[in-house]
Formats: sequence, C-alpha cells, structure tokens
Amino acid sequence: MTSTRPVSRGGSPSVPELIFGDLWQYDPAPETADPRIKLRYDLFIGGKFVAPKSGKYFSSINPANEQIITEIALANKNDVDAAYSAAAKAFTSWSKLPGRERGKYLYRIARLIQDRAREFAVAETMDGGKPIKESRDFDIPMAAAHFFYHAGWADKLEYAVPGANIIPLGVVGQVIPWNFPLLMLAWKIAPALAMGNTVVLKPAETTSLTALKLGEILQEAELPPGVVNFICGAGETGAALVAHPTAAKIAFTGSTDVGKIIMRQLAGTDKKLTLELGGKAANIVFDDSPVDQAVEGVVNGIFFNQGHVCCAGSRLLVQESIAELFVEKLKRRIDVLRVGNPLDKNTDVGAINSRDQLDKICELVDSGTAGGAEMYQSKCDLPTTGFYFKPTIFTGVTQSHRIAKEEIFGPVLSILTFRTLEEAVEKANNTAFGLSAGVWTDKGSRILKMSTLLKAGVVWANTFNKFDPSSPFGGYKESGFGREGGRQGLMDYGKIA
Ligand code: NAP
Ligand code: MG
Repeated sequence: MTSTRPVSRGGSPSVPELIFGDLWQYDPAPETADPRIKLRYDLFIGGKFVAPKSGKYFSSINPANEQIITEIALANKNDVDAAYSAAAKAFTSWSKLPGRERGKYLYRIARLIQDRAREFAVAETMDGGKPIKESRDFDIPMAAAHFFYHAGWADKLEYAVPGANIIPLGVVGQVIPWNFPLLMLAWKIAPALAMGNTVVLKPAETTSLTALKLGEILQEAELPPGVVNFICGAGETGAALVAHPTAAKIAFTGSTDVGKIIMRQLAGTDKKLTLELGGKAANIVFDDSPVDQAVEGVVNGIFFNQGHVCCAGSRLLVQESIAELFVEKLKRRIDVLRVGNPLDKNTDVGAINSRDQLDKICELVDSGTAGGAEMYQSKCDLPTTGFYFKPTIFTGVTQSHRIAKEEIFGPVLSILTFRTLEEAVEKANNTAFGLSAGVWTDKGSRILKMSTLLKAGVVWANTFNKFDPSSPFGGYKESGFGREGGRQGLMDYGKIA
C-alpha cells in the first residue's frame, strides 16, 4: 500500500481509522543516497587531511542504531598548535585578498554544498539522528544559504558601516555543538571568511562528520590552504582551542555552563568573544489565535530536531480560557507524529543525539513527574536499538519546576497557563535565558507590544523556528551575547581600523 494518512490514536477516530483500523499505516520510505562516508577521517589542517599528532582516533556512531559509522582523528594540544600556525600563515594573504576574490570562494563553497546536498543530508542524519526531511530541507540548504549570503557581503564591506574602514580580527577560534552540525559551522565560517579572517574550528565530538566532508569541498573549491582548519575531539580539545594565544577572537555556540567557563578563561585577555548559548523559550498562545495553526506551530517549536534546538519553544504559555481545548488538540497531534528511523522520509521525530543526552532528558522528565506535574506521552512505539524518546508534554507545571526552568534539549514540552497579557509577559521573562519567544494572536497591535516586552533576541509571531541568513540571531541574559547572521553578525568578525 502506498503512503497515506496514519491513524489518529487520540480523541474520536477518523473516517479512515473507522474503516481500516491499524492497517492504515505508512510504508517505509528510506532515503537511499550514498553518504560517501570514509572508514576514517584525519584532521583538516593547512588544506590537507593530516594524521593527528596524538596518534588517536575516536568512533562516531549513528545514534539511530548505535553502529559505528566512522573513525575520527582526535586532536591534542600539538594538533591545535599546528592548526593555528596554518591559520596564522594563511591570514597574511587571505586578509589582503580583494573582497570580490574572497566572495568567489564563498560562492563556490555554497554551490558545491548544493551539488552534494543529498549526500550531505544523509551523512548528517546518520551521524546526528535528525530526520532526513530536516537535514534535506533545512540544515543543508540553510548552510549553503549562509555561504551565499556572506559571499555577497565580501566585496561590500565598506557599506556595512558607511565611511569606516573595517578590517578583520585575525585568526578566529570557533567551537560548535551537535544539534545543527553543518549549519552551525556555516554560521561561524561564512561571516569570518567574508570579513577576511582565517579560522580554526572544532565540531562537536558526536557530529564531526559533515565538517570533515566539507573539508573535501574546501579542497575542491581550491580555498587557499590554512584559511579554514578543522580539529576534532571533545571538551579538552575545545579548551585548548579557546586558550590558544594566536586566537584574536573566540566564537562559541553551546551550553551556558561551558560558555561561563570560556568567559572566565578569557577574562584578562584581549581576545574578542561571542557566545550563543542555551534557551528556554516561551511560546505564548492567546485565546484569539488561530488554534489549529498555533498547535502546528507549538509542535514544530518543540519537536523539530527532537527538541535539540537552542531556541526551541520548550515552555508553552496558553491562555486559560482555551487551555483545555488546546492541550486536547496537542495530544491528538503528537499521537500521530512518526517517531523512528531518521533515514525514513516520513519520520517526524528521529533519534536523540547521544546516550548522554538521552540520560539527561530522562533525568529532567523524572524530576517533572516526581514534582507532581502530569505527563502525557505519544502512543508511538520506539525502535528497540538506538536512542529515542517519546514526544512528551507536561501539564500542571509551575514556574518552580526544573522542567520549567532548565533547558531539557529534548522532545519535552512544559505547559503553563496565564490569564492576562501582563501575566504572560511576566512568566515568559521569568527565566535565566533570553534567546527566543513566540506569540500567537490575531491582533497586530498585541504582537508589537509583546515583541517589545519580551526579553528575547528573536520573537516570532504566528510562526516559529523561521531563520534567514540576513536576520541576526542571538540572545539576552544567559543565552549569551553577540549576533550571528545579518550585518550585526558580520560586524562581530571585524573592527573599525
Ligand atoms: P556543550 O557541551 O557546551 O558543547 C558545545 C561545544 O563545546 C562542543 O563542541 C564541546 O565539545 C565543546 N566543549 C565542551 N567543553 C568545552 C570547554 N571546556 N572548552 C571549550 N569547548 C568545550 O553544548 P552541547 O551539549 O554540545 O550543545 C547543546 C547546547 O548548545 C545547548 O545548551 C544549546 O542551547 C546550545 N546551542 C545554542 C545555540 C545558539 O545559537 N544560541 C545553537 C545551538 C546550540 P564536545 O561536544 O566534544 O563535548
Ligand atoms: Mg555521531
């Protein structure tokens, strides 16, 4: 049977459900493109793949089935030194290259990513666990879009601040997390290169694969050796990268805890720093909102990429008068989310990125039930191998619950209610973070008012999780400082001479 609507297991049965019962299911639709993954990857330093001086390699596994997919070189301090030397050497000529020439390289990289998009999407999904439809339709195209956008800036830097001469900072050290591996890399590298900096970047330990595959693209684009260098490893390698004296700036995306460590580490140095950290966004639904559309937006806000999203709408604030109806609709909706094999084109929610992350989610969810919040989980069946977690919502959540305060970084939604706009704002802002927020209402004036009152870097209205390379992204409070994307993001990689 061909793909069709699945059964809705909650609420009253649909017509196909009444006729076909559980037979009305999707056939498997696996993505079959070859991800062209090598058995082993070396470090990418000075335009070449080089064996690590540490002599060590670590395994990268597919979290969907726990199988090893490749071995990755582990960088020690000496490898970090070598990467910085290559970047410093390359800076001399790269920073002097006319902007239009730098732009040509960025365009070339963008086009090569597009050429190999399907292969990269499969590799990203196998390495990190996200659904193929997300890596195919979001991660990889958006990564290319960032290179295209910044290619456009490279020869127009004099317009970024009219009348000022903007120059690059030097060698930039960059550290990224595992939730959007290639996309976070593009957010970091594209503006740095457009401005004339060179880069040493460390991808996250569990998701280094697409960075190293991008190394192949950089070779094909004939990017001058040393302009971009990739070193791999865990936190220790990241700490060595951050501490290196050659770095003129550190750009970090990751957890608030590690962000704080880095800030302490850099105190007293003249290194520039930008931090893109965690979040606990409120998605606020007023009673005049288009309810079904808002349900879709809330689902997208928290279950996109298994909730491994810094700006995820992980706290739903719903107006009391529609709360019961809204929660009922939400339950019915999450019951039909398809959870499982990330390589299946019909999968909505894939694998949790690692066992560690799964443990963290379980621990926080247990704290929610122990604290008296009421849990509802999707009725889906989970695969027996790999790391998975059922889409979960909590009602009866209070502001003091850990699940209302801490970032869970998983497919778990905490629901609170409010009566007035003032109460919604108070609750939404009652967090240590300030990365994003969502507002659902029919009134334009209310949207404008809310976007002023909410202390969040991004406020989406009647939509959620919308991104564009020209739109700056970044946080307030413990979500960090600095912006990525747009003119503001570009300016974080340059200074006025
Ligand atoms: P993490 O533990 O902070 O790790 C982020 C990166 O830092 C990884 O590459 C990690 O290496 C490395 N690292 C760990 N300890 C380090 C140290 N002492 N010095 C330097 N680098 C170090 O965060 P994560 O768990 O990977 O990612 C999830 C977090 O990222 C969430 O809090 C999320 O909100 C945040 N995030 C924020 C944004 C944003 O734009 N604001 C975007 C995406 C994610 P290993 O992976 O090898 O440990
Ligand atoms: Mg992996």
